[in-house]
Amino acid sequence: MQIKETFSPEETFQFGQELGAQAKSGEVYTLVGDLGTGKTVLTQGIAAGLDIREQICSPTFTILQVYEEGRMPLYHFDVYRIGDIEEMEEIGYEDCFYGQGLTMIEWANLITEILPEHYTEIRIEKDLEKGFDYRRITVSEEGI
Ligand code: ADP
Ligand code: MG
Repeated sequence: MQIKETFSPEETFQFGQELGAQAKSGEVYTLVGDLGTGKTVLTQGIAAGLDIREQICSPTFTILQVYEEGRMPLYHFDVYRIGDIEEMEEIGYEDCFYGQGLTMIEWANLITEILPEHYTEIRIEKDLEKGFDYRRITVSEEGI
């Protein structure tokens, strides 16, 4: 388990960039944290670490956004608005989760029943006592 404390969006982006540079093909990263904690900012950093230059927006309304231009595909899910798991099947999530790219899932806690056996959980938390822009980012390996 790794804990990173950041004090600005730039620092979170930078940490994401380091994670992206180390990411391996086929990995799944889940992003858990309240609205506005920085899940998308971190994903933008990870995309930069994969050498993706395209603008990364949160795919809240489309659920999935695919970026192909980096050193591996990035499958960016935001499942906040998912109604039921069948929607994930219609999107073809299995090709992403079990494919050759990096999968990032914002709000992954809403789809725990279809997460793969092994994944990396990234939890982002605020602590207002430490400042408005403070974030604690916990990265841990999950699975059996
Ligand atoms: P989420 O995807 O979790 O809903 P976003 O990444 O879209 O959140 O937004 C995070 C917001 O918090 C942005 O407006 C960003 O500027 C702000 N912010 C402030 N401090 C930080 C920090 N340390 N890390 C990440 N974002 C931060
Ligand atoms: Mg987001």
